[in-house]
Amino acid sequence: MAGEFDGLVAAVTGGASGIGAAIAQRLMADGARVAVLDRDVSNPPEGALAVQADVSDDASVRAAVDRVLQEWDRLDVLVNNAGIGAQGTVADNSDDEWLQVLNVNLLGMVRTARAALPALRRSPSAAIVNTGSIAATAGIPQRAVYSASKGAVHALTRAMAADHLAEGIRVCAVAPGTADTPWIGRLLERADDPAAERAALEARQPHGRLVSAEEVAGAVAYLASPRSTSTTGIVLAVDGGMQELRLRPR
Ligand code: NAD
Repeated sequence: MAGEFDGLVAAVTGGASGIGAAIAQRLMADGARVAVLDRDVSNPPEGALAVQADVSDDASVRAAVDRVLQEWDRLDVLVNNAGIGAQGTVADNSDDEWLQVLNVNLLGMVRTARAALPALRRSPSAAIVNTGSIAATAGIPQRAVYSASKGAVHALTRAMAADHLAEGIRVCAVAPGTADTPWIGRLLERADDPAAERAALEARQPHGRLVSAEEVAGAVAYLASPRSTSTTGIVLAVDGGMQELRLRPR
């Protein structure tokens, strides 16, 4: 059966785990050839080209994009998804901690886009999709640096959409609510009572459950696909209604 990404090549940063792996699997199922660019490629999604890369390092990112072009000689879809978290208020986190998170979550996307743009300009159907977060808009306690980094991702998405519109490159973002990934698994492992903590997290979501990585991947696939060619600059919430209904995490 023909897939809507048949013939197209996608690169997914942070594509070896969680949301990124689900995105890679979804794009492959829809016909794309997919490279996952990840600092840890010990367990990449089956069928993907695994490229070890650290988005906090410009040379590493450029080498990774070159590797994808060497393999397939084109790049049509870039999914900027690699991200890290940090706990704390502005009173807690040092400058170094701020710079570390911004270096991955914000500048990582800048570096990958910069390296990919020449190839994307040659694509007849180029799209960039960035992974933002509900944290950018909801005001979540103890997540100052992470929330600020994701607010910047949403703003960067709109700025890039405007800058590259005339080149035929669309730029959108998804903003997931709390999603069931290894990231959240690691958080739960550190809790005194992981089952109770998980139940509390689920109860905090408007639809009473965590968002699945596959739901986020479906939104990314839509935004990257020829079904959305008149859509650019949007941040699509995948959060059970939390942002649109102005619900606050309890
Ligand atoms: P995850 O930890 O399961 O996966 C993140 C992946 O990114 C890992 O494979 C990791 O190796 C990779 N990565 C981290 N730093 C990197 C770097 N410097 N260079 C290259 N790769 C790097 O996490 P996830 O939950 O799948 O999160 C993916 C994205 O979704 C992140 O941007 C995160 O902020 C965002 N997000 C997650 C949630 C959630 O609740 N899980 C909610 C909203 C947004």
